[in-house]
Amino acid sequence: MRFSTLGLQANIVAILDSLGYDTPTPIQQAAIPQVLAGHDVMAGAQTGTGKTAAFALPLIQRYLTTETSDKAIRVLVLTPTRELAQQVHQSFVRYSQGLSLSAVVAYGGASINPQLDALNKGCDVLVATPGRLLELVIKQYIDLNSLQTLVLDEADRMLDMGFITDINRIIKRLPESHQTLFFSATFNDEVFALSKTMLNQPKLIEVAERNTTATQIEQRFYEVDNQRKAALTAYLIGANNWQQVLIFTRTKEAVDALAKELKKDGISTAPVHGDKSQGARDRGLEDFKSGQVRALVATDVAARGLDIEQLKYVINYELPYNAEDYIHRIGRTGRAGNTGLAVSLVSHKEKYLLEGIEKLTSEHYLLQWQEGFEPNPEMQEATNSAKRKPSKKNMRAKALGMKGNNKARTGRPRRRS
Ligand code: AMP
Repeated sequence: MRFSTLGLQANIVAILDSLGYDTPTPIQQAAIPQVLAGHDVMAGAQTGTGKTAAFALPLIQRYLTTETSDKAIRVLVLTPTRELAQQVHQSFVRYSQGLSLSAVVAYGGASINPQLDALNKGCDVLVATPGRLLELVIKQYIDLNSLQTLVLDEADRMLDMGFITDINRIIKRLPESHQTLFFSATFNDEVFALSKTMLNQPKLIEVAERNTTATQIEQRFYEVDNQRKAALTAYLIGANNWQQVLIFTRTKEAVDALAKELKKDGISTAPVHGDKSQGARDRGLEDFKSGQVRALVATDVAARGLDIEQLKYVINYELPYNAEDYIHRIGRTGRAGNTGLAVSLVSHKEKYLLEGIEKLTSEHYLLQWQEGFEPNPEMQEATNSAKRKPSKKNMRAKALGMKGNNKARTGRPRRRS
């Protein structure tokens, strides 16, 4: 299948040729004709599937082929994070090079003035995070009366991040009749409830099974004590000679601590989280992309929207509290048909999080030990007894003499009990 068969006009296909895009991805095949026809769309699409082009290309064409009397914002794309906003904006710029379309990006945590300057020069497509968008509207820097299409990108994440009130306030300010495109990597009741309030007879598009992880990603799970995670991370990167690794932690503190440890081990590392200035975050990402640093350590929020071509390795230094974040995290690798490896380090206390992920993905994962980093059962026992009374399961294990069972500590993969 070619892009031209989806109804895209020659000048857009020529741009895609120049970018080396030969074949539309499944989400592009399904979504482009529907968006071109003006339908509302509800799409379940994982990161790395080409979903940005799936909405950007037909919207660029619709913009170029429909006449309006005034110069006003016609397309609004809402994204949960500034990184994703930047990435989507860059995509619009790339996909419309040489065409008369102006795309502007606006997000919080950065001075509003350059964004206002860009808006004042004329804006056809605005990509924004919800908070900054509301600020622009409330202060009457922009109006959305001529809006034709609203895109909600990564709707599940927007809800996770508590943007529901902002989204509802924004929707109230849009003209009665407009097209809405709703993209979400995962679906739950909350996401469905929001989609119902926003969409009008939507075309449903699903290119991968809901809540499943992308298939070209190999997933490995190492059971390891918390105290040894940093050493295991450094070992995996060093021993396997991984040159570009994205590492996730749950907190900003853990990002900083791990980055420090990895640097001590001689692995060049950039920490990225919400307390870093935008400049520092951009620099970290650039250095990572250009290969100047080997490891990028980030929180879920900071990593959202990072588009790094051919990223091969992702390490979950800590499992996320929200199982759906696991899908987002590992979706950073194996992008656009490439293969990837996602390694998760699972401490004893995190096993319940792994169970949550298994439930969500309907898969069973094999927990293995890395030789030299086997978990210490005494340590686990100590953590357990310090925290709570022994569970029935532990008492039974003790009664069966399973405490300190060295036989299982061979480094070979084993099934989790
Ligand atoms: P996305 O899911 O929108 O974040 O896109 C993931 C990556 O795939 C980006 O680096 C895009 O540049 C790339 N991409 C999107 N569509 C295509 C295509 N049809 N052919 C090749 N690469 C693509």
